[in-house]
Amino acid sequence: MLDVKWAKEWLQLSAKIINEHRDELIELDRVIGDGDHGENLDRGFQAVAAGLMDSTFSTPAEVFKFAAQTLLSTVGGASGPLLGTAFLRAAKAATAVDSPQLSAADSLQILQAALTGIQERGKAVPGEKTMVDAWSAALVAAQAAAQIDPCKIWEAAAAGAAKGAAATADMCARKGRASYLGERSIGHLDPGAVSSAYILAAAAQAAQAAQADQANHVEDAH
Ligand code: ADP
Ligand code: MG
Repeated sequence: MLDVKWAKEWLQLSAKIINEHRDELIELDRVIGDGDHGENLDRGFQAVAAGLMDSTFSTPAEVFKFAAQTLLSTVGGASGPLLGTAFLRAAKAATAVDSPQLSAADSLQILQAALTGIQERGKAVPGEKTMVDAWSAALVAAQAAAQIDPCKIWEAAAAGAAKGAAATADMCARKGRASYLGERSIGHLDPGAVSSAYILAAAAQAAQAAQADQANHVEDAH
């Protein structure tokens, strides 16, 4: 069920949701950063969505690799290389899967790989008010869900990421541009954690759409 169509849908929905929240992300980054996060991410995800329509992809790994390369070359700032690395590692994890469909266990591997990539690249740990807080809370929630239905894994990840992003409001920034503000960063959401929660919400929505699609096909067959 979580096949190449899901992977494409994930990135297309990410582009839509990031675009809808562009101004909000700009504003969040204006308060504790330099205000470019919404613009940078929107540019990157629009390029990903456009590219997905122009080329053909046969596996989730190919889709993630394309997304990674496009985000790396279009987003810039701190978040471009970090999200690019996340999708590059997701692609690697998906390449290791010997099936066109990703299982719940594969989904956990992908989440783990993405988080590890972000942490290796940015050297941040949870609690430092970065996108790591969204991705790590997503992984913990997805693991705790202990589901065999991959759709449920992504739903748990999305819910965890939203909580992780919300929790950044109370944190003092220790990494990235917001760390220059020190204690003054407390009381404000981290833009990168918020956008990562949107990206993971898109993954869950795409999984739900894939599941609904499959249910319709089963009904058609009867
Ligand atoms: P810049 O700070 O270069 O303007 P963006 O505005 O695009 O980059 O992205 C800022 C976001 O990047 C932050 O909100 C934070 O979530 C994330 N970020 C910055 N540095 C790190 C890091 N070292 N590790 C993880 N995430 C980071
Ligand atoms: Mg910025």
